[in-house]
Amino acid sequence: MVTTSERLTQSQRSENRRIRFSAYLTGITFFCLIGGFLASRFSGGQAVGFVAYLLACIAGGWSASKKAWQELKRFRLDIDLLMLIAALGAIAVGKAVDGAVLLFLFSLANTLEEYALGRTRQAIRALEKLRPERALVLRGDLEVWVPVEELAPGDRIRVGPGERLPADGIIVEGESAVDESALTGESLPVDKAPGNSVFSCTLNGNGALLMEVTRPNSQSTLARLINLVERAQTEKSHAEEFTQWIKQRYTVLVLVGAAFALMTFLALGHSFGTAFHRATVLLVAASPCALVISTPAAVLSAMARGARGGVLFKSGAAIEALARVEAMALDKTGTLTQGKPRLTNLAALRCDEQELLSLAAALERPSEHPIARAIVAFAEQKGAVTTQASAVKAIPGEGIQGEIGNESYWAGNLRLARRSKAIISSDARAALARFEEQGCTTIILGNQGILGILGVADTLRPESKVAVQRLRVLGLKNIQMLTGDNARVARAISEELGLDEFHAQLLPEDKVALIRELRRRHGRLAMVGDGLNDAPVLAAADVGVAMGGAGNDVALEASDVVLMSDNLSRLPWAVGLARATRRITLQNLTIGLVAILTLVTLTLSAHLELPVAVIGHEGSTVLVVLNGLRLLFWRSSALEG
Ligand code: ADP
Ligand code: MG
Repeated sequence: MVTTSERLTQSQRSENRRIRFSAYLTGITFFCLIGGFLASRFSGGQAVGFVAYLLACIAGGWSASKKAWQELKRFRLDIDLLMLIAALGAIAVGKAVDGAVLLFLFSLANTLEEYALGRTRQAIRALEKLRPERALVLRGDLEVWVPVEELAPGDRIRVGPGERLPADGIIVEGESAVDESALTGESLPVDKAPGNSVFSCTLNGNGALLMEVTRPNSQSTLARLINLVERAQTEKSHAEEFTQWIKQRYTVLVLVGAAFALMTFLALGHSFGTAFHRATVLLVAASPCALVISTPAAVLSAMARGARGGVLFKSGAAIEALARVEAMALDKTGTLTQGKPRLTNLAALRCDEQELLSLAAALERPSEHPIARAIVAFAEQKGAVTTQASAVKAIPGEGIQGEIGNESYWAGNLRLARRSKAIISSDARAALARFEEQGCTTIILGNQGILGILGVADTLRPESKVAVQRLRVLGLKNIQMLTGDNARVARAISEELGLDEFHAQLLPEDKVALIRELRRRHGRLAMVGDGLNDAPVLAAADVGVAMGGAGNDVALEASDVVLMSDNLSRLPWAVGLARATRRITLQNLTIGLVAILTLVTLTLSAHLELPVAVIGHEGSTVLVVLNGLRLLFWRSSALEG
């Protein structure tokens, strides 16, 4: 069986081999060119010189011919073909030197380009190399070293202080601060204790840990992350497909244009040699190499930079969309707040507190909702977990219901209480108002009537306020909050953060409709959520951004951009990077266009020598690639000021 890591290193190795091969070919071309140049200095060396130039053309045009042929077989023309035709043209009119120089520079530029983009891809795969090769597994009373590829869910592993974790899993014993920066870009270590999830490749701090593997190696968060990035790079976005289409048309246009120019020059009375030569120069000058590489060079670098900073862009189109966002809608629970509510208030109306807690805990036990976990945790702490519920059913956006000892109970918000036809007495109403004024989400528990009310409080993330301010600095016109929670809590948070608007008491389907409405009102919109129950909401926005990608599979699937860490400050960072990427892409397109226009104009108006056209053409290509690579070193410093 081939594991992910082996597959990666295989593709990495073949990529390295390809780059080395084209470097050798470029080197050979260079030496043949020098040899030909020296030989033709001596009298009688002309023939030797010509052979040397010819050899240079063959070495320099080798890769181009292969690519051009592959495209031709699919009835497609490409730039490599243009270059080959130009070189052959030059040789045909006795300018073998020019042909050799052209192919040398073309092959040099291609090698540089491949090398640069290869480095970018490897920047992402470098993560894989951090992973240890083997793990110390407990087998009965023995401890044995096992290659990580053979780890299976359920295996128990010892991880010593300062070691990298070999797999995704859950801590069974021990406490430690784990550095998750490789995965999340978050530099502060995260405290881990028994029950917490940990991830492959993260770095253990000072504690010794015993962990249980939860996922085989090929499905670890890291492996999937790398997989997604690789897929994002190979899958062509719509924009790229469009570029491809243009490139096809454009290549034909250049060929036809060159033929037309040849005829025009002849008609103007130039000799065939001169006319042919100038048409060849035109062919080179008009070739769109720089234009074609302008977007991928920037997008690949941005993806690598993002991955290192804990932000996963799922496609080039996602980067583009995030860069152009004008408004942003953020989910409250788990996004602006920590999503780890605690039970803070309790009002038993028609039973005692222990009974209320016991009933609530029984209903909420099967639920994954943060509110449910808060209630169960509190009940456990008070020793009030005494009964069990059956036929439990979650009602999205409202609450939960189930059977406890032949009677049906429900727990949830006012909407659910009304649907259950419970009469809301004045003491219930008073408790609701009191709890909500203190910033609590209220949960009403009842059967026929209301038994009691629980208040659960969630705290704002410490970084939320700064994150919102930075989004403002980035020029976002409108920032909104969406929540299923009550309006009083929503207002308090919205005012604290200085948001433009808030929308409370939304059902999941209301959120989808609201997103459509907000797009109409405010333009391009990003929706930021935890992806847990808002996958359709994320999909309804122009860009869906999910938080806490490490450990949250749904978030990885449902969104366009994933913030791997559970830290909202990555959001303005991601927007900043996306904007920088868009800026550099536009710069690149401009460089490419200006180069073509200048060279073509010069060719048509003045007599441009072939080597000059070639240098201008290849120079702009290399410039565009290097400009794109700047994104690898992008920093958010522009945001701090
Ligand atoms: P949010 O938009 O804040 O993520 P949800 O859509 O998950 O909120 O839930 C909306 C509201 O529905 C909650 O504020 C709560 O009142 C109620 N609710 C949802 N699930 C439960 C549950 N398991 N127990 C009690 N109340 C719940
Ligand atoms: Mg939610």
